[in-house]
Amino acid sequence: MMMLTKKMIEIRNILQVVGQQSALILPSIVVIGSQSSGKSSVLEAVVGHEFLPKGSNMITRRPIELTLVNTPDAQAEYGEFPALGLGKITDFSSIQRTLTELNLAVPAADCVSDDPIQLSIYSPNVPDLSLIDLPGYIQVSGLDQPPELKQKIADLCDKYIQPPNVILAISAADVDLANSTALRASRRVDPRGERTIGVVTKMDLVEAARGASILGDRKYPLRLGYVGVVSRVPPTSGLFSRGSGNITTAITKNENAYFSAHPLEFGPESELAVGTTTLRKKLMHVLEQTMAASLQGTSDAIHQELEEATYEFKVQYNDRPLSAESYLAESLDAFKHSFKEFAESFGRPQVRELLKEELNQRVLDVLAQRYWNKPITDLTPALVEPDPLSDLPKADPDNLYWHRKLDASSSSLTKLGIGRLATTNVANALQSEVERLINASTFSTHPFARQAITDAVSGILNERFYSTSDQVENCIKPYKYEIEVDDSEWAKGRQNVSDVLSKELKACEAAEKSVETSVGGRKKMKDVMGYIDRVRKGEVVLEGDGVGGGGGFSAALLAKGREAVFLRDRASILSMRLLAIRSKQCTTKNNKYYCPEIFLDIVADKLTATAVLFLNVELLSEFYYNFPRELDLKLGRGLSRDEVERFAREDWRVARHLDVVKRKEMLELVLQKMESLRMLEGREGRREEAK
Ligand code: GDP
Repeated sequence: MMMLTKKMIEIRNILQVVGQQSALILPSIVVIGSQSSGKSSVLEAVVGHEFLPKGSNMITRRPIELTLVNTPDAQAEYGEFPALGLGKITDFSSIQRTLTELNLAVPAADCVSDDPIQLSIYSPNVPDLSLIDLPGYIQVSGLDQPPELKQKIADLCDKYIQPPNVILAISAADVDLANSTALRASRRVDPRGERTIGVVTKMDLVEAARGASILGDRKYPLRLGYVGVVSRVPPTSGLFSRGSGNITTAITKNENAYFSAHPLEFGPESELAVGTTTLRKKLMHVLEQTMAASLQGTSDAIHQELEEATYEFKVQYNDRPLSAESYLAESLDAFKHSFKEFAESFGRPQVRELLKEELNQRVLDVLAQRYWNKPITDLTPALVEPDPLSDLPKADPDNLYWHRKLDASSSSLTKLGIGRLATTNVANALQSEVERLINASTFSTHPFARQAITDAVSGILNERFYSTSDQVENCIKPYKYEIEVDDSEWAKGRQNVSDVLSKELKACEAAEKSVETSVGGRKKMKDVMGYIDRVRKGEVVLEGDGVGGGGGFSAALLAKGREAVFLRDRASILSMRLLAIRSKQCTTKNNKYYCPEIFLDIVADKLTATAVLFLNVELLSEFYYNFPRELDLKLGRGLSRDEVERFAREDWRVARHLDVVKRKEMLELVLQKMESLRMLEGREGRREEAK
């Protein structure tokens, strides 16, 4: 018979995970009694250990769902709090401490909480039982207890003593049964006394005859009967039986001594049920019967639930199976695939283009600084100085001045810190590309994965950064000393730079246009620019420093005007230089001092080509090789089951899908277990009959 209860308790525990509907609940034994009725002592006698919170001020504030599991072949006795993940606890005083802490964690203002504590105890000495210990009823509120505590405890108990649960109503022998709070509560929900077991504690505190008359009383008949116990641990039982040791022997010895001392009242003739051992047997028997009785109903309810889950699975999810693991694996595969596609499209030519763009900009800066440097940025009257632009065509190839100018310009490029710049640029490009890939993937709704991927990227890039940057810097070193140019390079550079300048010219013109629009039209713009030009030529004097405006224009308008003048001047320089570059003079490399733009473009091109060569080997290839592996590690094999589950559930749609799948699986599992239970029951039944 034992097997049945064990299996049913197993089913009961699975059902608790599946759902809270009352139809799906298999019965448990609910223990109620008023404070000091001896409730804890009875439970501890059944378990064989002291493990419940004690102390004058300690009232139980949360239900304890106690699952006792008989482990016939094991030696060890231990407890487990499945929800806390503390592992096996073999020291029962440690279980007691944990329960006390969990109890104290309920805020005093809340009085009691209906969130149950789950505790399983495994031992060869316990029967298979499922018990729920509830807070003891209080008669009179203590001074330091909130007035509503009494009612809240009663309400909580009411919730649990509903069918199909069995009620274990504890009353003390030294209190009139008519005054037993437990029996009164039980009668309200079980008026015919069909699912209540009466336990009368402290039998040793009343005359044996009185005790016997209480147990034999017909005033409050219970179909499942009364059991009288003396479940206190005898004070003389010594140190070893208290705390961590098993107290069963001490209790039964003490109890037997009492009952056998009164054979007339409690002997076999009396037909009264007494003793903790009798109580244990009764509990096992009653629980098994009750569970068996509700099995059919529960099984029907599960069938119905399963049908609903199956329907939802079909309609909402097209019967598509899903597990957190498969979801992660699919997402990861898709992501790696999209990364591979990117990797194939971002190679040497693309890096080259990226870098050249950057260097083109630097070339323009150098030119503006060293060659096109008209003092056009401030409003002070122009100094009389040679105009470098009109000088350029005359640049004498034998004049050291022009040599130095070009050398210095070329140095500004070669000593720019190309290694760092190029590495940063490529790393940034990779980073933002991966970001884009994440956003386009299922990972976009998963902060955990996003973080893991970003970490993987920066991990690899950080590791490669300095060596790559040093390598590149080393390899461009020769260009810091000498740059040789051949004819075909010159021709190509000429074409390149004229494209760059045209593009820049267009950008300047567009910017000027947008400034014009922002100030409100061409006419206004012309007026302001005209004023600024006159100030520059010294024809008018700007009052103050122009902060408060001038010439009838506001400071803001003057600022816009300055911007427009700058853009106009830059555009005119660019057009002039374009003309020069396209002119016959610039067709040969011998005239490089006339055409620094072309020479600098060639420098930039050489730097780019060399940098790309090493970036490709040191950074790009390394990244393409390591990134997918790092992904596997961070999002694949490296994750625990819990982490995978947490990851998948970050997306509520996935969480819902997973829930349906899991619910369906659980219900199927329960049904399967029930089926095997029924077969077992049939076999047991036949064996009983054969006896
Ligand atoms: P609870 O508040 O209902 O959990 O009651 P306890 O189990 O803590 O018991 C209250 C007091 O009654 C304790 O001092 C126990 O030692 C004592 N007690 C419990 N059962 C018995 C018993 O069978 N006989 C005697 N004499 N005392 C008992």
